[in-house]
Amino acid sequence: MKPIRIVAILTFVSSLSHGQVHAGAPQVRNQAPGFYRIMLGRVEITALLDGTHPFPVHDVMTRNETMPGGDRKAVKLAESHPGRADAVLAASDLAAPVEGSINAFLVNTGDRLILIDSGAGSLYGACCGHLLENLRASGYRPEQIDEIYLTHLHADHVGGIAPEGKPAFANATIRVNQKDLDYWLDAKNENEAPKFLKPMFEGDRASLKPYRESGQLKPFSEGQELSPGIRAIPTPGHTPGHTSYEVSSEGQTLLVWGDLVHVAPIQFPDPAVTVTYDSNPLSAELERTAAFARAARTSTWIAAAHIAFPGIGHIRSVDGRFEWLPANYTTVLKPTND
Ligand SMILES: [Zn+2]
Ligand SMILES: [Zn+2]
Repeated sequence: MKPIRIVAILTFVSSLSHGQVHAGAPQVRNQAPGFYRIMLGRVEITALLDGTHPFPVHDVMTRNETMPGGDRKAVKLAESHPGRADAVLAASDLAAPVEGSINAFLVNTGDRLILIDSGAGSLYGACCGHLLENLRASGYRPEQIDEIYLTHLHADHVGGIAPEGKPAFANATIRVNQKDLDYWLDAKNENEAPKFLKPMFEGDRASLKPYRESGQLKPFSEGQELSPGIRAIPTPGHTPGHTSYEVSSEGQTLLVWGDLVHVAPIQFPDPAVTVTYDSNPLSAELERTAAFARAARTSTWIAAAHIAFPGIGHIRSVDGRFEWLPANYTTVLKPTND
């Protein structure tokens, strides 16, 4: 054997043994449990992640545009402003379809445990329906929940109350705006709805059925204080009875927005951007613009269903443009005025 070949063999053997000594650890590829907590005065707020899914920006996003006759009407964003969504997303290092979060929020007032929205349950497939495991990871059990307040009756907000049609919250009363209930449980509306909305009607019937049968479904009329320190605020447009919830404690306020925003980097600078799912895009724009302005003026905490988890933060206005300021990570969880 020639010396050069011996050297080659020795090098090969040495690289093999080197590899064995430093064998790579298998990658784990899961995420931290999906809960995140802040204190609001004396109230504990826990954001719960139901899952993330690709949000089809180009198919779903529309914008209210002024027509030649002067009327305003929702038009596909990709048609009225070709390339704009891609450019705005690229500026935030994102691309369509944007991975969107589905967030719900648990409010512990000390007296009552209230869940606001419930995720998609079994209605969105394997991406989602993780609310219950994240609720348990956060230290609570589903049977401890006294009430569930729904922002509206879209599948990704109501589906979690009864995955596969089985009620997940044995002791909870379900509260929802009567206007949303009237709309989504009406067969005539289902017949007249566009095809992509039809599964929503079916999902609503299946999710609400066990609670209706047991007398645990209690609709409310608008503007009501549902429990001490928590008020239902009508924000119609996305759906007829879309509702935000205002939680107050010790002079601090958090607004749980529901679907006032779907894609933050696109809609904060341009609140006229709507979605095909909006029942009334013009009202949706009005409510969004008003909510942005109010939040920027008052430095209220915001909790949003589809802003990247945990979806908790503040709004500011810079030169007339709104911006989202995500909450700073915190481990300080005592009443904020102690
Ligand atoms: Zn919605
Ligand atoms: Zn939603």
